[in-house]
Amino acid sequence: MRFPIIAGNWKMNTTVTEAVELVDKVRKGIGAGFSVEIIVCPPFISLTAVKEALKGSAIKLGAQNLYFEEKGAYTGEVSPLMLAGLCEVVIIGHSERRQYFGETGEIANKKIGAALKAGLKPILCIGEKLEDNEAGRMSEVVTEQLQSSLAGIAVPADLVVAYEPIWAIGTGRAAHGKQVNETAALIRGVLAELSNQETAQGIRILYGGSVTAENIAEFLEQSEMDGALVGGASLKADQFINMVEQAEYIYFPNNPPTKDLIPW
Ligand code: PEP
Repeated sequence: MRFPIIAGNWKMNTTVTEAVELVDKVRKGIGAGFSVEIIVCPPFISLTAVKEALKGSAIKLGAQNLYFEEKGAYTGEVSPLMLAGLCEVVIIGHSERRQYFGETGEIANKKIGAALKAGLKPILCIGEKLEDNEAGRMSEVVTEQLQSSLAGIAVPADLVVAYEPIWAIGTGRAAHGKQVNETAALIRGVLAELSNQETAQGIRILYGGSVTAENIAEFLEQSEMDGALVGGASLKADQFINMVEQAEYIYFPNNPPTKDLIPW
């Protein structure tokens, strides 16, 4: 079984104080009786404080980026060695990094290599632009992103891939569950070519792009999908908690959470 993930990407939001307040609410709201893997990715500057706030909790901590060099004259960058021991997970290749900071597949590739070397678990983000989607180039783009990001890397079974169509991120215009499921199957096929069937079957594939408590079930119910990477809605503790609870009900129907599901 692939263990489902609900991950929150807080992007460039929350001060350190706000980050701790948010994670405190999430932690208390979710309680201890959950089976899905929960990951929160606050800004770098809040990682230490959020780690402290999460002491004793199974909620995992992730960073939103890293630089691929271990140390040196790279002003403003954060190295994998600095993150190792502080968090377990790192988002790599997010479309906002590609769009605003010129990150390419080649850079994502170096970052994934560096993350794995440091013992961090990457969430590799891929997804096509609106014009590529409209021109029927989604498969081509997604395939190229996977190939370039994972070239020469022994793909680990605990890699996580987040399919995040750029036109769906922060727009309120989420993709459709069925369509996302077909894309996830395509992604798994490419992963099998880059590794092998067994590894590809174990890799978790998340959907991201305007996921909310209202629409998350549509994605979680798809056979090829293993959870969600949530941006904006992960900043609202009650929405995030509700999404985790929905995931519990969908993936673990025989082991429902101890609390009642908050009606949304
Ligand atoms: C994201 O940042 O990865 C994301 C999916 O954002 P949003 O949920 O806000 O669309």
